[in-house]
Amino acid sequence: MIIVMKPDAAESSIQTIVEYIKGAGLQVHLSKGEELTIIGVVGDKSKLATENLLSFRGVDRIVPVTESYKLANRKFHPEPTTVHAGKVNIGPGVLTVMAGPCAVESEEQLITIAKAVRKAGATMLRGGAYKPRTSPYSFQGLEEEGLKYLKEAGEETGLATVTEVISAEAIEAAVNYVDMLQIGARNMQNFILLKEAGRSRMPVLLKRGMCATIDEWLNAAEYIMSEGNPNVVLCERGIRTYETATRNTLDLSAVPVLRERTHLPVIVDPSHATGNYRYIKPMSLAAAACDADGLEIEVHNDPAHALSDGAQSLTFERFDDLMQSLKPYAALSSRTL
Ligand code: PEP
Ligand code: MN
Repeated sequence: MIIVMKPDAAESSIQTIVEYIKGAGLQVHLSKGEELTIIGVVGDKSKLATENLLSFRGVDRIVPVTESYKLANRKFHPEPTTVHAGKVNIGPGVLTVMAGPCAVESEEQLITIAKAVRKAGATMLRGGAYKPRTSPYSFQGLEEEGLKYLKEAGEETGLATVTEVISAEAIEAAVNYVDMLQIGARNMQNFILLKEAGRSRMPVLLKRGMCATIDEWLNAAEYIMSEGNPNVVLCERGIRTYETATRNTLDLSAVPVLRERTHLPVIVDPSHATGNYRYIKPMSLAAAACDADGLEIEVHNDPAHALSDGAQSLTFERFDDLMQSLKPYAALSSRTL
């Protein structure tokens, strides 16, 4: 439930209510917007005499929140959230582009790609050091060595870095090297991992599970947030449908749906969604046009010899062309690239 305060409610009235709720053993989530203050209540409402709250000074109305996710809910926090990954902002006013290889393959490969994507205008470097592969015989990633290369490449180029974590041990290692953790599609409902990522307090890029509904995805975000970590960015990366012409089916309508339901930033990954470099540009432009907060794109210096996901990786030239083409789309919605 949320308690919407009157626009002229005094700070002391807000504090009185906050204390009253905490005193009943419930959690309070305060959202102070430019016009309205909203007090979100998380926990067992039966411990509160809800009708009594209406008699408190400054209360305008009480609205039940029927969705099981609360902290991620737009009703709790009407203003859009900006998440900070290193020096990079992900949220209103910016179209944040994260680019890099599917997997960190070597020090030289990563620094070469980092410099190229930086030059083209990306502000974040992606690269998997722990790769959750469908086959156990496929390249599994360089692990901690890969994390070291990410840190070096980030320092040398000024790019913020994001990498996928697949276990509690990977989180423990990654927090020392990167600016943002990624939880991949295959782990979206790994609740133990979500809680660990929540406890790390690091910004988290939470990809949509390939068979997850938007409601399940938002509940996964809630797992991270309920551990005290509000820094979650959602990433639409395609869902599995009967269509086989593309690797997955990019659900771009998830972007406006999420805008209504959550205050968290939403980005789009056209690489894993389509699986084919030829479709990355049109789907990236479409994502920018429907107001996504950013993109995550796979780029490789030599896609033909990439150790993973070469078919969907852009060459430097194609990535540069994409960044140029994105400019007018970003400008249309007054965003910087
Ligand atoms: C990735 O970003 O490298 C990745 C494995 O993506 P997803 O979890 O969306 O499949
Ligand atoms: Mn990949």
